[in-house]
Amino acid sequence: MAFLLRCLKGRPEMKNIRDLSLEELEEELVALGEKKYRAKQVYAWLFKGVNSFDEMTDLSKELIQKLKDHFIIECLFLDSFQQSKDGTIKYLFRLLDGHKIESVLMKYKFGYSACISNQIGCKMGCNFCASAGIGFVRSLTAGEIVSQILKIQECSGEKISNVVFMGIGEPFDNYDNVMKAIRFINDPKGLNIGARHISVSTCGLIDGIEKFSNENIQCNLCISLHSSKDDVRSSMMPINKKYAIDEVIGACKKYIEKTNRRVTFEYALVDGVNDSREDALHLVKLLHGMLCHVNLIPVNKIKNGKYEKSSVEKMMAFRDLLNEKGIVATIRRELGSDIAAACGQLVMDNQGEKKKD
Ligand code: SAH
Repeated sequence: MAFLLRCLKGRPEMKNIRDLSLEELEEELVALGEKKYRAKQVYAWLFKGVNSFDEMTDLSKELIQKLKDHFIIECLFLDSFQQSKDGTIKYLFRLLDGHKIESVLMKYKFGYSACISNQIGCKMGCNFCASAGIGFVRSLTAGEIVSQILKIQECSGEKISNVVFMGIGEPFDNYDNVMKAIRFINDPKGLNIGARHISVSTCGLIDGIEKFSNENIQCNLCISLHSSKDDVRSSMMPINKKYAIDEVIGACKKYIEKTNRRVTFEYALVDGVNDSREDALHLVKLLHGMLCHVNLIPVNKIKNGKYEKSSVEKMMAFRDLLNEKGIVATIRRELGSDIAAACGQLVMDNQGEKKKD
């Protein structure tokens, strides 16, 4: 019922006010006959996480009415959630058009981290990732992307201090909206999260890496590598047939040269596929001399998935060999795997606790 009412309230022809930058909001409000500074007030309320214009208590009734007549606030609807033994919470959010996305809250020593989605589904087809199995529906807007953080904060009561674009979707296949969302997250008048606390993970879309090199923002770039050999990587990630490893590494080298920032390579260790001593040495050769870090991830099991994770001993041996050869490598702590909230396990529906409408 509540959902139907929301749909009626949110007429599709109306703009989601959360999609507008401060400058765009200023333009819109001036066009509606308002003073420019009003936009700052509205913008500040949006990032306090309000769900309705009525909560903007320092605005006049007339302005609130004008806002209601012209905009909606797409603030996501909590459909269900699941909490892991380790405290990780996976949220299933429903968008105004009825589609669903998953986002994850993780607790680390340094604070709370949000893992957010940027598309409904994914086109990339990596065969070890559950998000690939759900097909592609559409990209999220900047407002929808950032609303996940606001909603997680509202649901959990915790302040997010770290954001990773490692949920559903390929960020560089939705480049402009992701960049706009990053600016909202980073903006001192927005969510005010430092760029160094924002990480973007890509399967290796070269044009995206090139554009990202020129953004002049100190976010972390993570590359899903998973193998240093083209035949193995192509068998796991179809995108490798378009952009082979050498091209991806070349783009990363240019990124490092331009930004002087360290690149993180993600490497999901799969038993018998990419986890041998020879694989480690091959990887060392590939990354030799680069300002980088390797994040080893035990591959997570997905429904109908053919891959098994490497043994702990093999993972440690792989890590130790990289470190010994001068490539900094760590094994990523597995969070939320008991509730399918870990890397590559996000889909668009879960069996969580239902939120009452
Ligand atoms: N499209 C982006 C974000 C994907 S998810 C990208 O490809 O980078 C974030 C990370 O989880 C990626 O490195 C992805 O390759 C990895 N991942 C996906 N499925 C996984 C699985 N089953 N086990 C471990 N890591 C996985």
